[in-house]
Amino acid sequence: MENNLLVLSYLIGSITFIVGLKMLGKPDSARKGNLVAAFGMAVAIFGTIFLYKTTDGKHLHNLEWIFGGLLLGSVIGTLAAKRVQMTAMPQMVSLFNGMGGACAMLISIIEFGHLGEILNAANTPTQEIMGGAMNELVQTIQAALMASMRIKLLIIFAGLIIGAISFAGSMIAWGKLDGKVKDYVLPAQQVVNIGLLLVILVLAGLFIAGTLSGAWVFYLVLALSLLYGVLFVLPIGGADMPVVISLLNSFTGVAAACGGFLYDNQVMLLGGILVGSAGTILTVVMCKAMNRSLTNVLIGNFGGNKTGGGGAAKTAQGTIKEVNAADAAMLMKYSKKVIIVPGYGLAVAQAQHTCHELEELLEKEGVEVKYAIHPVAGRMPGHMNVLLAESNVPYDKLLEMEEINPEFATTDVVLVIGANDVVNPAARTDKDSPIYGMPILDVDNAQHIIVMKRGMNAGYAGIENELFFDPKTSMLFGDAKKTLLALVSEMKNS
Ligand code: NDP
Repeated sequence: MENNLLVLSYLIGSITFIVGLKMLGKPDSARKGNLVAAFGMAVAIFGTIFLYKTTDGKHLHNLEWIFGGLLLGSVIGTLAAKRVQMTAMPQMVSLFNGMGGACAMLISIIEFGHLGEILNAANTPTQEIMGGAMNELVQTIQAALMASMRIKLLIIFAGLIIGAISFAGSMIAWGKLDGKVKDYVLPAQQVVNIGLLLVILVLAGLFIAGTLSGAWVFYLVLALSLLYGVLFVLPIGGADMPVVISLLNSFTGVAAACGGFLYDNQVMLLGGILVGSAGTILTVVMCKAMNRSLTNVLIGNFGGNKTGGGGAAKTAQGTIKEVNAADAAMLMKYSKKVIIVPGYGLAVAQAQHTCHELEELLEKEGVEVKYAIHPVAGRMPGHMNVLLAESNVPYDKLLEMEEINPEFATTDVVLVIGANDVVNPAARTDKDSPIYGMPILDVDNAQHIIVMKRGMNAGYAGIENELFFDPKTSMLFGDAKKTLLALVSEMKNS
């Protein structure tokens, strides 16, 4: 009966994960989807705590430790999620992703310890136990046991390597997004990375095959995997971080799935596979958006090594034209079509609500308003969608890059709010640019471009933007929220 209930709780968990993930695919159902999946996770966790029985038929013990950990994790998680600024969300996602990798890594370490005891028993010379025909039987059993142990070892090593890379890589990604860690490229970085990965795989392979033995191999693989995680993410800069973030996310999923295999736990396995496959799909989408090949991602050879994330702008060249809020509001008010391009600066300024207000005022004046969403705008996948959904912008107004790009040519005014790299024409024209090849929003095809930002600072890729010197561009300097409030008030008063 208890076992049936446990299976039922895992079934509920599995179904809610799938339904939740499906709901996360659309901004209007995403919040509910998150809750549905969290409910399923709670059912699966409590099912395991109270209904799971170990091989000796006993329920889980150490409940005080389990609930202590649950309580501590829940309090820290809730406080962190409530207090985090919307702009620091990407860092938090990276940190949480790293924790998932660390869990998978720790599971492998613990299970390696358990397996070690069984392996020792299995390796005990049979002659010392029995003789004759019985000996053969025992040897056959030992061989079968060893074969199954090797499969288990394979999964333990997979969880260890992937989990450790994901943990160390996510910590570096967190530091980079937070501006604490700078890009660093070793001499012959590619060779070092590939060499290190090969050493890790060969050591693990030899241990699993039984050619190498001793716990030192396991711990060496652990240390090298952590080092690889660091070296893999450290050189990545110049706007390529979105790809690595989604890749690390998929690593954590795969590492968690290894835990599911080890414990024969269907819900953990399915959850891991869902995260792993969703992360992989996202990685492919991001690669496409950044115009990078997955091979480049895997060997840590990103195009952005030339400049650092968040670096300072190069010396400005050419002349820029400024506009004030009153003139900008007039220009938009008498336009037929306005496209708003949100970027990281909109998130920093928390100006999404005011932006929505401006959009509504323009529409009242008969102006057609749309939003152009670049896949890597902001600092996390889907950042702009989340931001604008929060301020109730209708979803049909949010258009993806491929869809909106042909429309710029027939647009009177493009209002770029705190976006920089995603509208930088250097991606199309400058072969030396670290973002060369990245598809961008073709805002320079519009009749007028108004760029809202505080000064002439560079974006994440740390490079200058020639769009600001385009004769069709007018700069509207100031914090995005303050400037949007000024635009709203001009619209209301004119
Ligand atoms: P950028 O980072 O290129 O530019 C943001 C601009 O916003 C800056 O130039 C800054 O200029 C301006 N800004 C900052 N604060 C404010 C404010 N309060 N008010 C007005 N403007 C402000 O942003 P994009 O969205 O164009 O591009 C995103 C970049 O981040 C890409 O390079 C992408 O690859 C990278 N990235 C994306 C991730 C993702 O998953 N989406 C993850 C990691 C990195 P100023 O200081 O002069 O105001």
